[in-house]
Amino acid sequence: MGVLLVEHAFAKINLTLDVMGRRPDGYHEVDMVMQTIDLADVLTLEEDPAGAITLEANASSVPLDERNLAHVAARVFRANSGVNRGVRILIDKQIPVAAGLAGGSADAAAVLRGLNRLWGTGKTTDELAAWGAAIGSDVPFCVRRGCAVARGRGERLEPVNHRMHAWVVLVRPPVFVSTGDVYGALRAEEYSRRPRSPEMVRALAAGDFEAVRAGVHNVLAPVTFRLYPEVARLAERVRHVAGVPVHMSGSGPTLFCLLPTRGSAQRVYHALRGFMREVYLCRFLPSALAPPRGGRPSVEP
Ligand code: ATP
Repeated sequence: MGVLLVEHAFAKINLTLDVMGRRPDGYHEVDMVMQTIDLADVLTLEEDPAGAITLEANASSVPLDERNLAHVAARVFRANSGVNRGVRILIDKQIPVAAGLAGGSADAAAVLRGLNRLWGTGKTTDELAAWGAAIGSDVPFCVRRGCAVARGRGERLEPVNHRMHAWVVLVRPPVFVSTGDVYGALRAEEYSRRPRSPEMVRALAAGDFEAVRAGVHNVLAPVTFRLYPEVARLAERVRHVAGVPVHMSGSGPTLFCLLPTRGSAQRVYHALRGFMREVYLCRFLPSALAPPRGGRPSVEP
């Protein structure tokens, strides 16, 4: 058996998501605060002596061929690094798929970090993040982790260093939401007049939990609720049962509540488990776990 290593692929939630307009290239100009949470896929990478890139996963909902973003990332890594070795990638999928939690992007980022370690290529986090932008807009953030304001298509990052501890209860409604349909249904008059990220960054820096929770904002939520009324109904039910505000991550359909303590989060988690199958109890991944700019390419949790 060859060299084998484990890399965690952490999910993200959006604390803010503003769409500032449409760009000439057809993409939307976004401004969002992204926060890594400790819900993670576990990737095992093993040298493949035959020189091929192969993939296995414990989930039927993701493609296992070259369309999988982990596979794309391995090819991007080989092309950019010039290293032409093979790898077997095993994905233990824990992050709900197509849920607004960037599961595919997180896997791609974990492959970039993991291959850098496996093949000893010594690339910096900046280099890996730049390669990641070619795979998907959220991949650079998933390479860095922690908390950041993301602009442009989501690939232009400004790290936010904060020490805020917060618990997150996630609810994944059993509804398939298409990210493309949600952006496509966003009307020009719904574009944000101003980004909410500056207020959120101030609240995080001040460690003010109530201000953070009050500042959570997602311009796509009304659009997803309009297209998928069952998600809107569920959000109302979750709010009623949890007794705290309910938010949506990315283009949805995942809903989340922020709680200040483990005890309060556990109460909400158990109450929601009473009527929802997919509920997750997690917390912010501290920024300290995210590698510093240009620092070591990978830090194990
Ligand atoms: P997006 O907002 O970019 O659609 P998401 O966070 O909502 O992302 P993902 O879990 O990343 O959702 O899945 C989006 C799509 O990407 C799915 O249709 C899935 O089949 C495909 N995909 C490719 N590779 C992966 C992977 N490794 N993990 C999850 N999904 C993947």
